[in-house]
Amino acid sequence: MKIAVAKEIEVGERRVALVPDTVARLVKKGLEVWVEAGAGDRSFFFDDAYEAAGAKIVSDTAKLWGEADILLKVGLPQEREDGRSEVDMLKPGAILIGFLNPLGEPAIAQKLAQRGVTAFSIELIPRSSRAQSMDALSSQASVAGYKAVLIAAAALPKYFPMLTTAAGTIAPAKVFVMGAGVAGLQAIATARRLGAVVEAFDIRPAVKEEVQSLGAKFVEVQLNEETVAAGGYAKEISEASKQRTQEVVTEHIKQSDVVITTAQVPGKKAPLLVTAEMVAQMKPGSVIVDLAAEQGGNCACTEPGKDVQWHGVTIIGPINLPSSMPVHASQMYAKNLTTLVQLLVKDSAIDLNFADDIIDAACITHGGEIRNQRVKDALA
Ligand code: NAD
Repeated sequence: MKIAVAKEIEVGERRVALVPDTVARLVKKGLEVWVEAGAGDRSFFFDDAYEAAGAKIVSDTAKLWGEADILLKVGLPQEREDGRSEVDMLKPGAILIGFLNPLGEPAIAQKLAQRGVTAFSIELIPRSSRAQSMDALSSQASVAGYKAVLIAAAALPKYFPMLTTAAGTIAPAKVFVMGAGVAGLQAIATARRLGAVVEAFDIRPAVKEEVQSLGAKFVEVQLNEETVAAGGYAKEISEASKQRTQEVVTEHIKQSDVVITTAQVPGKKAPLLVTAEMVAQMKPGSVIVDLAAEQGGNCACTEPGKDVQWHGVTIIGPINLPSSMPVHASQMYAKNLTTLVQLLVKDSAIDLNFADDIIDAACITHGGEIRNQRVKDALA
C-alpha cells in the first residue's frame, strides 16, 4: 500500500505533509511511502533526508497522484497550471487527507465525492482527548499565536519587557489578547515570555483559569446568555451582548500597546470586536495583529495580507502564519497526519471503521457520496 506526499503548489504554502522522522515511523510499520521530489524543500526537509528515512522520491507528479492509496497534503487540491485538476489525478477509491475546508469550499468536496475519493478533512477531527495527537487545528493555531506576538513585537516602536537601565526605566508593554482559544493562549504565553503585561478576554468563562495560570489578567464581562456551543466552541452572541462586551473591552484596548485578536465562531464570519472608533482611541504607535483576518477580521480596519495605518495605529492582517514557520508547523502537522493514518490502516491495509467517532467525524466523502450533513447543507 502506497502513502504519497504531494508537493504543495498553492502560492505562499511552505509546509509539507510528512517530515522524514514520520516517514521512518510509517516505513517501520511496513508501509511504502512516496514523496514528490522537492516536496519538503520550502520547509528545509530535503529529498536525501526522506530517502534516508525509507521513502521513495518520485518526480513524476501524475504517477504519484495516480498510484497513491493515501495521498497526504497540507491544503486543498488545486487546479494546476498545466490544466490538470489534482482531484482528477487521484484514482477512484484513494484516500485524501488535508485541510480541505469543506464548509468554505463545499464544491471541492462534491468533486472529490464524484471522483470516488474518500476524503478526510483534518479540521473536522474532534477536539477530544483521544484525538488530541491528530488535532492539526490546534498544532497550527499554536504556531499562529506564537508568531502573531513576534510580528507585533517587531512592529511596536517600544520594548516588550520592563528594563531598568542607566538611561532610565522602561515600562513593560501592555498586551491585550482577545479570544483565548489555542492561538490566544499561545499568544499570551509568548507575550509573557517577552516580558509584557498581558490581559485577555474571551466570551467562554471556562478559559479564565487557563489565562490566569499563564500569568495574565482575565477581563470578565457578565453576559446574560449561554456563550458555549456543543464541543466547547463559542456561540455567536446577541447584539445586546456584543454591545456590553464592547463597552468593557474599549477601556482595555485604549490602554494597550498591542492587541492580538484571535476570536472565531466555527462556520461563521469572525466576530467584530474592535471598531474603527476604538482603534482611533488607541495610543499612536500601537499595533493590532488580527489572526482572524482571513475569516473577515476581528478589527474593522483589517485588510487580509496587509499592514494598514489608521490614526497612527498599525493593523496587521497576516495570512497563513503557520506556513511562515514551516519547520515546526510541518513537524507537528506530520505527527497529526501520521497518527490519523495509523488509525486508518491495519496490517498494511486500509480498514475504515465508521463506528470510530474520529473516522466518522473527519471523513467527508466516501463511496461516491458526501457523508457530512454540514457539507451537504453548505452545498444546498
Ligand atoms: P476558535 O479558533 O474557534 O476560537 C478562538 C477563540 O475565540 C475561542 O476561545 C472562542 O471562545 C473565542 N471567541 C469567539 N467569539 C468571541 C467573541 N465574540 N469575543 C471574544 N472571544 C470570542 O477556538 P479554538 O482555539 O479552536 O478552540 C475551540 C474549542 O476547542 C475550545 O473550547 C478549546 O478549549 C477546545 N479545544 C479542545 C481540545 C481538546 O480537548 N483536545 C483541543 C483544542 C481545543
